Amino acid sequence: MRTADIRSRFLDHFTARGHTPVPSAPLPTPDPTLLFVNAGMVPFKPYLTGEVPAPWPRATSVQKCVRTLDIEEVGRTTRHGSFFQMAGNFSFGDYFKEEAIALAWELSTTPVADGGYGLDPARIWVTVHHTDTEARALWRRTAGLPDARIVDRGDEDNFWSMGVPGPCGPSSELYYDRGPAFGPEGGPAVDEDRFMEFWNLVFMQDERGEGHGKSGYPILGELPHRNIDTGLGLERMATLLQDKPNLYEIDETRPVLDAAAELTGTRYGSDAAADVRLRVVADHVRTALMLLADGVSPTNEGRGYVLRRMLRRAVRSVRQLGYPDPALPALLPVARDLMACGYPEVAESFPRIAEQAYAEEEAFRATLQQGTTVLDTAVAKVRAEGGTALPGAQAFQLHDTYGFPIDLTLEMAAEQGVEVDRAGFTALMEDQRERARADARARKSGGTGDTSALPAVLDASGPTEWLAWEKLTTRA
Ligand code: ATP
Ligand code: MG
Ligand code: MG
Ligand code: MG
Repeated sequence: MRTADIRSRFLDHFTARGHTPVPSAPLPTPDPTLLFVNAGMVPFKPYLTGEVPAPWPRATSVQKCVRTLDIEEVGRTTRHGSFFQMAGNFSFGDYFKEEAIALAWELSTTPVADGGYGLDPARIWVTVHHTDTEARALWRRTAGLPDARIVDRGDEDNFWSMGVPGPCGPSSELYYDRGPAFGPEGGPAVDEDRFMEFWNLVFMQDERGEGHGKSGYPILGELPHRNIDTGLGLERMATLLQDKPNLYEIDETRPVLDAAAELTGTRYGSDAAADVRLRVVADHVRTALMLLADGVSPTNEGRGYVLRRMLRRAVRSVRQLGYPDPALPALLPVARDLMACGYPEVAESFPRIAEQAYAEEEAFRATLQQGTTVLDTAVAKVRAEGGTALPGAQAFQLHDTYGFPIDLTLEMAAEQGVEVDRAGFTALMEDQRERARADARARKSGGTGDTSALPAVLDASGPTEWLAWEKLTTRA
């Protein structure tokens, strides 16, 4: 079953059951806590908190998501894309746990000929919050699941909140057993590659107060209007239904992987390290395409930085695989052709997208060789002096002069067994930002032109917190 078919079956299933279909929001979100939409519920937050009355009691969507927290997982696990599509059904004070479970079970297990996904019910496992005996009973009753395939989990995995006071509640995840070829027996607690999560159901039933972390806050009581928020990964379902080993090999990504393999003369499946690189290329090229389509431009901070990192890491990966010439002109159109049917904007604005992407590749190519030499020399020096970490000033120079995103420097240094003094790097970045602000202020008081917007632009581009792009992890 093609990914496009998985998408339309989801929307059809829920539309036929009283849900209003809502188009995907763009990836860059006005939500101040996030760089990008990272779950289907993000555009619906005001309805879930009750801040704004929901226009419909039930909604369904397939939302474009980018999860920067998962970038490092790409190509290494079988199931994490930096871009992915989350299909969801939502109830705003309408149906609750029993119907949410029944709806998910029905779509998952209804035979393909009758409009469902046709998963084998005997291979589905679920997790529930250990206190949620109601969910356990419902899985037993509605789905006929035996207790052995209903796994209790704690707050860390199966309790959802927005990270701030407001609605919260237990969640329940659906997993599919892909069989012994993928890992050991024992269920999702033992192996999440063999037992792959494909759908997450959140039961918003309580209200939480101030506090931090996954459980460091009081539960104030039950919500007057309970909500349902679910998220199913289209790529994960495609991995299952297309019987692929991982989500980089499904119909919407594999052709990019193949194009990269052909370009570089690499045979996919012959070398584990090269395979990871090919999967990274397939993933990053698609993510970059979708970000460019939504108006993000490559820059040194915030959203633009994530895009720059995608493009530059893809370019470097192709180069490491042995292809020295510009690669994006051979890869980006392949991704466009795969994504354009679901997202016509990708085809419509492709001339602009291509121009931006190819210019970024050219700019990187101009400094990559030199920067690599600088890095290699610096690493050799660190080693010769018996050190373990590249000085922050070196990483800053690579960033400032050679356009090396810090993550790239980290990755390249790590490949040679050396760390990077990140604190030193961050301090230098902060100095530079402060100087830019002071300059802007000086220019403003000197009265030469209106630069009053500059500090605001700098502020809006956000702090440079490499590992904390998503200060708030929203789980679907
Ligand atoms: P995992 O535990 O596998 O990392 P998750 O619990 O973080 O997944 P949720 O936040 O529950 O994921 O998101 C809802 C659904 O979206 C998941 O059940 C999965 O199908 C899909 N999904 C989440 N992250 C990714 C990703 N990086 N790539 C592809 N699909 C994803
Ligand atoms: Mg995750
Ligand atoms: Mg999970
Ligand atoms: Mg989950």
